[in-house]
Amino acid sequence: MALIERTVGERGTVGIGIPGMISQRTGIVKNANSTWLIGKPLGSALEARLERPVRLMNDANCFVLSEATDGAGAGFHCVFGVILGTGVGGGITIDRRVHVGANLIGGEWGHNPLPWPDVAELPGPACYCGRHGCIETYLSGPGMEFDHRVRTGRSQSSREIVRAAGQGDAPAAETLARYHDRLGRGLASVINLLDPDVIVLGGGMSNLPGLEDAAARAMQPYVFSDVVETVVRRNVHGDSSGVRGAAWLWPED
Ligand SMILES: [Zn+2]
Repeated sequence: MALIERTVGERGTVGIGIPGMISQRTGIVKNANSTWLIGKPLGSALEARLERPVRLMNDANCFVLSEATDGAGAGFHCVFGVILGTGVGGGITIDRRVHVGANLIGGEWGHNPLPWPDVAELPGPACYCGRHGCIETYLSGPGMEFDHRVRTGRSQSSREIVRAAGQGDAPAAETLARYHDRLGRGLASVINLLDPDVIVLGGGMSNLPGLEDAAARAMQPYVFSDVVETVVRRNVHGDSSGVRGAAWLWPED
């Protein structure tokens, strides 16, 4: 870093996205899947080593900040960024600022219960958090695959399920339709509370073809409004959004 700064004649800023949460006040890490970080003052340790202030942020928040700044959410007042991957998370920006929240969980909707469940969805799959029927247990990639296995007895990846559905396989098409409906319900409950201007889909499952249109259609009956203006988009920056958002923790203006 010192060599780069001497070469370009400028002093850089450092922003870092991590899986987990960081107290903005103390810099202490919690809920990290890199468990050795938990309880550690990562912020102050890095600041001492790098001899400058360091900004740390949850990686889902970095994702939404990246997309809100110059991605699929650019130009919108309120952005809800959704991670649909091996887990389900999210983050919120208002005017390109992350809403971190009093408990550092702003936008973390994955461990709310799946809304408007039908009888067959109760109590729902067990979740690692100790509850049943969390949104994550349905909308993560493993969640979709589990649902398909329980209904059909077939172990297929989410990609295989989508491909089979496209080729006219009825059980796969039903799994995909359930996924779309559940995503619509999950997003509608966010709209009914937060009412974001745009929802940006990220994570591996956001690569499923047509997911943004299917989600926009599926959520409509559940939104408490006769007209639904909320835009649903796939992310622009993909896997780079975490790193890009971390850099944007030091905005130019
Ligand atoms: Zn859970």
